[in-house]
Order: sequence, then C-alpha cells, then structure tokens
Amino acid sequence: MTINRKNTKKIYVGDVPVGGNSDITVQSMTTTITKDIASTVNQIWELESCGCDIIRCAVNDTDDALAIGEIKKHTKIPFIADIQYDYKLALAAAENGADAIRLNPGNIGASWKIKEVLKACSDKNIPIRVGVNSGSIKKEFFDKFGGVNSSSICYSALEEIELLEANGFFDIAVSLKASDVLLTIESYRKFSELSDYPLHLGVTEAGPPSKGIIKSAVGIGALLAEGIGDTIRISLTSNPVDEVKAGNDILKTLNLKKHGVNLISCPTCSRTKVDLISLVEEAEKELDKIDKDITVAIMGCAVNGPGEAKEADYGIASGDGEGLIFKKGEIIKKVPEEKLLEELLKEIEK
Ligand code: SF4
Repeated sequence: MTINRKNTKKIYVGDVPVGGNSDITVQSMTTTITKDIASTVNQIWELESCGCDIIRCAVNDTDDALAIGEIKKHTKIPFIADIQYDYKLALAAAENGADAIRLNPGNIGASWKIKEVLKACSDKNIPIRVGVNSGSIKKEFFDKFGGVNSSSICYSALEEIELLEANGFFDIAVSLKASDVLLTIESYRKFSELSDYPLHLGVTEAGPPSKGIIKSAVGIGALLAEGIGDTIRISLTSNPVDEVKAGNDILKTLNLKKHGVNLISCPTCSRTKVDLISLVEEAEKELDKIDKDITVAIMGCAVNGPGEAKEADYGIASGDGEGLIFKKGEIIKKVPEEKLLEELLKEIEK
C-alpha cells in the first residue's frame, strides 16, 4: 500500500528537496558545541552514516556562526542554523554558508531586523523554518481561542508566516510542536488544511527513547499515514543517533522509505523450540549492516512460520532445535539451530 501525500510547496535545503512530494527526510540536531568543529563534524558524520538527511546545529554566538563554513567543508548533508533571538546570528549564519535558518520571526524583534534577515536569506537563496510550539503561542491567539489548542497554535504560526510573506519571502517550512501527541496531530491536521507550506513534523520534548519513540511513532506516524508531513525529527533525550534510527524506522514502517532490511519475527510462544529471541537479536545486528531492500522473516514454529517466511525474500521457519531456510517461497535447506543465522546470512550474501 502507498500513502497519498499532500502536495506541498517544494523548497530546497542545500540540494535536498523538502515538500512537493519529495522523499520525506529525517533530521536531527547535534549535541556538540557548534564551534568545536572537530566534535561537531564527527557527530554529523556519525548521524549521516545512520541515515540523517539534514542536520541542525545551535548557533549561540558569533563563533558558532563562523564555524559553519569549516563544518560544511567536511560534511555533506545540509546544515540548518538554529537561531533563538539574535538577528545578527541569523545574518552571520547565512553569510557563513548555512543551508537554512530555523527561527521564530516573532522572537527577532523590530521589523527592520526581520527585513535584514529575510534579505540575507533571499540573497543566499536559503529557506527559513518557522517554528511554533505550545509554549510560544501569541497572547492574542491564546486569549481568542481560549488557551493552548490547535487553533491558537495554527494561527500563531500563520501570523509568523504573514510577517515573512509581507516582506516578499515565501521560502518557508513550518513546524507546530507540542509535547501532547493528540494536540500535535490536531494542530498539523488543521494547519495542513490552511496552508501549503511544507511541514516539519515532531513531537517536542518527547522524553527518553522508551517513551519518546512511542509518542513520536504514534504522533508523527498518524500524520504521515494521512499524507501530512515532509520532513521529520524525533526529539529524544538520548544520543541523536537514536533519533535518526527511530525516524528512519517510522518511515520504513509506512513504506515511505526503502532503506535496508525489513525484519519480521514472531512474538514466540510455547510452540517455539529454538532460542528465537537470541536468534532475532543477533540477526538484527547483522541485518542492520546489509544495504539491501529486502524482507527477512524469522519465525518460531511450523504453524505460522512457513507462511510468513514464504512471503519474505528470505526466511527461517524454526522447528525443534533446527529450522528451514526459505528464499522467495522455496525451501533452500534445513539446518541445525546453531547454524541458522550463519546460513541465512550466506544466502542473503549470495
Ligand atoms: Fe508461536 Fe509459531 Fe506464532 Fe511464533 S509463529 S508465535 S512460535 S505460533
């Protein structure tokens, strides 16, 4: 099955398209001090190698902004400069090679400052991601719509956008984050009906991986399944590698990204006569290293195992201390339990 995606306006972050039915990208944010160039570059490499498409780094001072050029010389994925309040840092980031800027125009202050930032971004042809979260709702909309809800979030974002559009700037992506999953879903749904700008999806402050991945999979997954969303970031209190892996797993789960091996395995039950849990743990580590878009099924018994294994490109249907290896529905061989993974990997390697 495929998802019928909303055709939003297409923008470019560096050479990576976002929106307009482009592939959905996975973003993350570095945790290094940006001006510590060696550490930042190393972390970007690590994130890129596990599937990060776009990186965002905090720009907290002029030295961070000045480091962007050198960081970009040593990395490939586009660089978004995350700016909080100081318009001069946005100007410096644009000047030093940022591929996009993330800021809230409302935080920048006087309109002449916003104009300067927009001119710098226009001159460099770089987009701005406008972010509104449940903590940055305009008082006017908070009062008008009765507190924090999807309307106050959406109309705060629309007002931020109007500020940019009024200055002839349309190279925009939008995020509307809340840590409440249902509020996140409702806000993006509403905004998607009101605007065609590409959407950066995220459930903000989602927590540690054990909680945050579930919240993100539910919130972001629900929106993506409805065709809403152009780029995603899983926000975790963890190593950002976990964010990137979770983001790619969500996209793969929805067939929005063909990326490596799709591992299917059963939950085990009293019929399982091999140590399937250890086998699957080992298999996951090995299969993660394989760059092939295939489905591998590892099943615990002969009741449901052969059926699932036959559907997969490769599969194991376990028996009592042994198992059958399948390839595209054909039995290849019968092997003892201790050889199952080794023989499976040999077949995949072939
Ligand atoms: Fe149990 Fe077999 Fe189903 Fe696995 S595939 S859960 S072993 S019945």
